[in-house]
Amino acid sequence: MVTRRNMVAGMAGLPLAGLAANLLGTSFVFAQDASMADTIATSEGDLVIHPVQHASLVLEWGGKVIYVDPVGGASLYEGLPAPTAILLTHGHGDHFDVPTLEAIAGSAPLLTNADVFGKLPDTLKANAKSIANGEDGELDGVKLKAIAAHNTTEDRMRYHPVGVGNGYILSLGDKQVYIAGDTEPTEEMLGLTGIAVAFLPMNLPYTMTPDQAVEAINVFKPGIVYPYHYGESDLAALEAGVGAHTEVRLRNWYPNGQG
Ligand code: ZN
Ligand code: ZN
Repeated sequence: MVTRRNMVAGMAGLPLAGLAANLLGTSFVFAQDASMADTIATSEGDLVIHPVQHASLVLEWGGKVIYVDPVGGASLYEGLPAPTAILLTHGHGDHFDVPTLEAIAGSAPLLTNADVFGKLPDTLKANAKSIANGEDGELDGVKLKAIAAHNTTEDRMRYHPVGVGNGYILSLGDKQVYIAGDTEPTEEMLGLTGIAVAFLPMNLPYTMTPDQAVEAINVFKPGIVYPYHYGESDLAALEAGVGAHTEVRLRNWYPNGQG
């Protein structure tokens, strides 16, 4: 594994941007920098992955631009193409923010869970649909499946109860991309096969520990895993514990600090 090297490569754009931030003053927010994107080949063209912040990411593939859980205000997305589709996992504020959506959505179709669908203002709801755990669906021509996302540890169940939040598997050419949402390892996650790229959360008390993530990764064996939504978790356990079947890609998901 070359995770340290990957992390350095992924953060290579930061020092200069940090200097710019100092020159411009403390209110500067990092916009997206193309050097922070990763490219993964699929049978139908490249998938370009932009980590944005915490749980927010942007996927470009086949001329589509899919914003996943965009929050944090429109300025975070200034360096990126406008969304052709928006995917939301659940209604917590680090995943769902109406002002951000109103600023960036345009007429892009939006897919989410029933809870968030019910909270959308009418202008956004007009282009939205909801999908439940286990259902197959489609967004902007991309086939996907909603995967159960919930806690499994008794004293954490109140954060993400069973049956509310969605993770998603997107079929992008020959690559299955799994965005887990806020979840601990569930039966559904552990039963997955053929996942090329997985985004897994790990922060307490809301999701899973890095050790839980390692256990899950070593069961469902995604080709590449991106830890995201990790807060101040110590990710060293992943480097030590994940088998050779999976490449761990550490990226800077907090370019503006932990905020
Ligand atoms: Zn949550
Ligand atoms: Zn969250």
